[in-house]
Amino acid sequence: MSTHIKCGMLFTALDENAQANQTVVIDDGAFTFVGPSDQAPAVKDSDDVVEYGDRFVMPGLIDVHTHLAYGNAKTEEDIDIYGAVEFKAIRGLNFAQRCLRNGYTSLSNPGDASRVTLSIRNAIDAGLFVGPRITTAGPYVTSRQGLTDWYPTWIGQPVTSIGHLVHSPTEAIEEIRVQVKDGVDFLKFAMDGDKVMDPTGVTEFGGLMAAFNQDETSAMFTEAHRLGKRVAVHARGAEATLYSARAAADLIFHTSWMTDEGLDAVLENDCALCPTLTLLYNNIEFSRPGDGAYPGFVDAHREEFESACEVLTNARKAGATFMTGTDSGFAITPYGEWHAREIEIFVKHLGFSPGEALRCATFHAAKFLRNGDKVGAIEVGRWADMVVVNGDPMANVAVLQDPDAIDVVWLGGDIVDVDPAEPDPRLISDFSYNMWNDLYTRDRVEALDGRNW
Ligand SMILES: [Zn+2]
Repeated sequence: MSTHIKCGMLFTALDENAQANQTVVIDDGAFTFVGPSDQAPAVKDSDDVVEYGDRFVMPGLIDVHTHLAYGNAKTEEDIDIYGAVEFKAIRGLNFAQRCLRNGYTSLSNPGDASRVTLSIRNAIDAGLFVGPRITTAGPYVTSRQGLTDWYPTWIGQPVTSIGHLVHSPTEAIEEIRVQVKDGVDFLKFAMDGDKVMDPTGVTEFGGLMAAFNQDETSAMFTEAHRLGKRVAVHARGAEATLYSARAAADLIFHTSWMTDEGLDAVLENDCALCPTLTLLYNNIEFSRPGDGAYPGFVDAHREEFESACEVLTNARKAGATFMTGTDSGFAITPYGEWHAREIEIFVKHLGFSPGEALRCATFHAAKFLRNGDKVGAIEVGRWADMVVVNGDPMANVAVLQDPDAIDVVWLGGDIVDVDPAEPDPRLISDFSYNMWNDLYTRDRVEALDGRNW
């Protein structure tokens, strides 16, 4: 039995354009015909026919930067310390389904507590739960100067952290081997930190030093590649981007202060870029007084956004490969909400055409995924993951952020029917022991105009 789907407009992601009056045929979960309706195979009595009128059909969307273990967290302590990793795996299934319901049929998870997302991936693969296709790393490999080593040296890094702090190149190689043995799809390295949080940054590199030197970086990536795994890195600064690109990282997140030398290395080694500008954009637009990130983070992110738009526009013009991702999993980027905003930012701020931005969220992003040649495009032989849109993303990519516009989602030739529960957000995260958001001096109490008891 085949399924024939008649599409008003079809965007295959094999090029930048959408075509009218197309038909796709699905057998055993994969595409067996894609082309003009008048050339489609004849419909047999046993076949199903689905008519999508004037709706827009495109490949399932991909976010290569979603952290299923974070839990829409407001603090790094909530990500690292509070909530058992077993609880994080269970709640993560709900988050994954939220992404799927919004058209994201594949996710990559770069950086995790313990084996949380690896377990979600395996549970979905085993057929225990319906969910998106997941490609995952384990905890970030980091150093004292890298992301995820948040706590003072006298506290150390908890075993439940999203990072694994290594104390020597030997330890880094051992951690890579452990994660590969446990079944990760790729390795994630914290190649630097965050300017806002890193008081030790050196000015020569825009305030951010690399967490590993070039020799260490090359040794780690070589070992990951030798074991058949891809490499993704967090690199906001110029130095981390340069070392990562020279060592042939497969995917570099952020690259906000990439230099021309860094871009040359990116192009030479064919490193893909995932700017993850949604995180900055949301923080700049949504943060309020009273938020811990306000105003320092907001100011820093505005400066970073401006730099990123400039260097990434140059990278686009130079022919670098771009993938979309959002850092979903923080309270500023909740699951299932803002993934498609990155596509809009690509068009508005990096100069992509709508068609090319959509390819960054499908065809190009697929290249980083496990089974990447089976997803990301509507093409004979690939798995039938599709989104049916009420509206025209070629005219307005922002329509993909409207949940009502995501009409139908197909995963492996089946219509997705998930309705994840709406849980109590205060019981999901927010376990950090934050007691007050203000400083109640006599002057402040007077300024606040009184007491409430
Ligand atoms: Zn991230």
